[in-house]
Amino acid sequence: MDPYNTGNPIGLGPRGHTYRKKRRIRGPLLTILALLLLSSGGWVAFQRIAAAKADTTYSVTSLAESPVVNMEKNRIERWNGVTKKVAYLTFEDGPTALTPAILDQLKKEQVHATFFLVGTEIDLYPDSVKRIVEEGHYPGLHSMTHSRETLYDSKKADTYIKEMHQVQKRIKQLTDKQPLLSRPPFGSSPYLTKSMAKDIAKANLRVWDWSIDSMDWYYKDSAKEVAKTVISRATEPFEIILLHEQPQAVRAIPAIVAGLKKKGYQFAVYDEDLHTPFNFAKHPEL
Ligand SMILES: [Zn+2]
Repeated sequence: MDPYNTGNPIGLGPRGHTYRKKRRIRGPLLTILALLLLSSGGWVAFQRIAAAKADTTYSVTSLAESPVVNMEKNRIERWNGVTKKVAYLTFEDGPTALTPAILDQLKKEQVHATFFLVGTEIDLYPDSVKRIVEEGHYPGLHSMTHSRETLYDSKKADTYIKEMHQVQKRIKQLTDKQPLLSRPPFGSSPYLTKSMAKDIAKANLRVWDWSIDSMDWYYKDSAKEVAKTVISRATEPFEIILLHEQPQAVRAIPAIVAGLKKKGYQFAVYDEDLHTPFNFAKHPEL
């Protein structure tokens, strides 16, 4: 077997030709070599362009579809090749008469959660709001009216901002905390337009939707189904779980915590310093 010829499909290189033969093919050889160099240069350039293109697509897609890339900056760590998985429990529409039970349950499980509070309810259960903050949970903003028409029909952000600021003021009076994170009732999409998002960001408010709907509004009589839904839907390293201050959600807490821990999740409470944009409408400034 000719060692010089192995794996060389066009037969370049010494192959035991006579000197004369070599001389005769030097001209064409150089041409082929030059062509090869040119085309390999072109291939490298193409690869660079393709890689750059792929990079852009990757970051845009990631930002749009899941916050993994943003998170990597702040939070995601890998240990021995295993990605740290974080779940955020979020409770909407409180405070309610059930808030103390939720807080008790969370304390028992040693887990912190993010609450999205409705201003008018804060007036009814001020002690629960204090307790939320005292026990290390995050008191988020969830408007005054919780009304689709009032908040979004105008296609302007004025009412949204005004209502969130009203909630913020109430929380500040009670707890001395001035939270910036809001959860749009019914979710940001299709309600928050691009210009609304800009104004909301300018008003120093942030927006978080959710990545897992627990379906607690659907499984009204079954905490088991609520927990099963959450656990089976948890697949990403960063999950925001939508729950409501409802009995079936409260009863589902222990199973949700156990099930997600078993899947390798840690629980986190929203932290303004590590904010990661997460909204359906994909506005990066929120
Ligand atoms: Zn709500």
